[in-house]
Amino acid sequence: MKIAIAGFGALGARLGVKLQTAGHEVTGIDGWPAHIAAINTNGLTVIHDNQAPRKYFVPVMTAQEVTGEFDLIILLTKTPQLDRMLTDIAPVITKKTQLLVLSNGLGNIEVIEKHVARDQILAGVTLWTSSLVKPGEIHTTGSGSIKLQAIGHANAKPVVDAMNQAGLHVELTDDVLTAIWHKAGINSVLNPLSVLLDANIAEFGTAGNGMDLALTILNEIQKVGALQGIKVDIAAIMSDLTNLLKPENAGNHYPSMYQDIQNGKRTEIDFLNGYFAKIGQQEDVPTPLNMMITHLIHAKEDIERVK
Ligand code: NAD
Repeated sequence: MKIAIAGFGALGARLGVKLQTAGHEVTGIDGWPAHIAAINTNGLTVIHDNQAPRKYFVPVMTAQEVTGEFDLIILLTKTPQLDRMLTDIAPVITKKTQLLVLSNGLGNIEVIEKHVARDQILAGVTLWTSSLVKPGEIHTTGSGSIKLQAIGHANAKPVVDAMNQAGLHVELTDDVLTAIWHKAGINSVLNPLSVLLDANIAEFGTAGNGMDLALTILNEIQKVGALQGIKVDIAAIMSDLTNLLKPENAGNHYPSMYQDIQNGKRTEIDFLNGYFAKIGQQEDVPTPLNMMITHLIHAKEDIERVK
């Protein structure tokens, strides 16, 4: 399959390498000059589970340079960057191209619908992880999985088969929105609270009222979900959170929002807590904690950018 990864950052590069190794023709699309130069000159360095570094040669280019047609474009920008990426790659999207979005957060499908027909969209949620430590180098651990669904009437099976051939552990679901909301619930707790409390995930777990805060955030999200016909299973999210707090799982990890703030970048807050707060406000469902968290994270973004 001819595949482009639009957003060849931490996660895009990890999935791109696996797809290329399985024999697919993979092109990375990215806009970070130092990262592109490092990969095209010396290859992408992957350090997996602290083993010896390995090099992979996946061609990476800017959206302006990329040409040709793709069977599949996997969208893996940060959520606020998605709209711009879709505008930039419009010349290489044909009516036959399927677009799979794996970025976190809510609202991605609506953004993609502005650019292509609903029948071209696949949406997914992934438990694969990766860290981009410097241009051209990612660090990865363990394994992952993906749940995905065609949003319109497209046949997602060829994409699922191609990705499974690359060992990406993909499962078709008929309810991807519930999975996306579930993950957004987890991220709406751990991401902003790690920033606001200056804590990694395990440290957050030592806060006596940490789980009370989580419950308040999730109760608000559940009410917003009910308005949209989405069942938010708070008990299941709390159970996942409890597991994640263990050091042997993600406990010693700082969520991506923490890293974005440190790097002076815009966060995905408007597509997590901010999304729920906005819908709550529109529909008259009170979401005061999600609203407050969204304002505080935006304040922190401004402060760190000026520093
Ligand atoms: P990242 O910032 O490392 O990668 C995004 C890449 O997209 C960057 O390299 C950036 O240069 C590129 N980009 C953005 N806009 C562009 C444009 N218009 N033109 C060209 N290049 C552009 O982010 P990531 O960590 O790989 O995360 C991507 C998404 O996946 C996020 O939504 C994140 O929440 C989600 N996610 C990440 C992980 C993880 O472990 N990294 C795990 C699960 C989900």
